[in-house]
Amino acid sequence: MRRITAVLLLITLVVLPGCSLADPVVVSREALGTVVSVTAYGEDESAVRAAIDDSFTVMAEIAGPLDAYTSGSDTAAFNRQPYTAGPLPPRAADILDEIEALEVGDAFSPTLFAVTRLYDFEGARTLPDTDDLALAVTASDRFVRQEDGTALFSRLMDTDVRLEPDGPLAPGLDLGGAAKGLALDAARESLRGSDAVTAALISSGSSTVTLGTKPDGGVWRIGIEDPRDLSRVLAVFSFEGDGALSTSGDYQRYFEVDGERYHHILDPTTGLPARGVRSLTIAGASLSGLDSDILSTALFVRGAHNALAYAAEHGAALMVVDAEGRTLVVPAPENSGVTVSEEAPETQ
Ligand code: ADP
Ligand code: MG
Repeated sequence: MRRITAVLLLITLVVLPGCSLADPVVVSREALGTVVSVTAYGEDESAVRAAIDDSFTVMAEIAGPLDAYTSGSDTAAFNRQPYTAGPLPPRAADILDEIEALEVGDAFSPTLFAVTRLYDFEGARTLPDTDDLALAVTASDRFVRQEDGTALFSRLMDTDVRLEPDGPLAPGLDLGGAAKGLALDAARESLRGSDAVTAALISSGSSTVTLGTKPDGGVWRIGIEDPRDLSRVLAVFSFEGDGALSTSGDYQRYFEVDGERYHHILDPTTGLPARGVRSLTIAGASLSGLDSDILSTALFVRGAHNALAYAAEHGAALMVVDAEGRTLVVPAPENSGVTVSEEAPETQ
């Protein structure tokens, strides 16, 4: 429900009335485990709608096989035999390559399935046993990619029954921190290839990609919510044309035990929720959705100080809300087509 509210807020911000030559077509649907909205401009409404339909199909085709938590998926099949070399799920190699290219393998781990499963954020929302967590983290680290395109986890302790393929700590791929970004990129390419669509914005709530320039030349505006007051907009990121933006927060999926918040962005070295950041947004005209999705999680884990340095070095725009509620911003380079404004926009 919280996610749906965020998406609606986003639409309100993006589609401000009276600022375009023609109204865009806006379609919101359940997809990628959340609500995805596509805002697209074009002359022929029915052709634009057909292109949007196709983009939703493309998203499902990309994300479906990558969902470790759907038993029929390729990733689930890979995870059922973690110690036997098997082909990587479709597009998983692209994600693994991009983690390397971005140099964030220390903070973004695609192999946390044993760890994320222990929390069961969607179900029991339990606090994992410390020993289980430590073993799951160690097993997660044993991922081996082979030159022939297959991959497996090397065994840790043959004797521990919990690590057996059907045991509670069996390692596996969890590409959920990157799959949505990859799916948004594919949807954007699908819309780009359509003659009907001249400009578009696709958002899964936490990640957004834009395509082209709005017909009136106006910017795409994406509001970022206050992590402790979701009705309040902290800042607005604007894109002139193509761009990508992702937010990772400690308020999106969490539960509390003894006043402590356990959220879904985990430090891969401990398996515990990363501390020190409430919300982190990264954006850039030259970032892909995959990049921003990976980076928001990775830089959240690295912490505010390191995140600011990474963004400055890589020419990305960044906003962090730290554990004390301070908002820290790295603006995008001048003339990059991306701006960050901390002023709340006018509401309708
Ligand atoms: P959000 O949309 O809230 O940014 P994502 O779905 O992009 O969240 O990423 C969070 C998911 O990524 C978690 O639910 C978990 O499956 C996985 N995850 C958590 N911590 C990490 C991490 N350090 N590296 C890679 N994946 C992670
Ligand atoms: Mg992410």
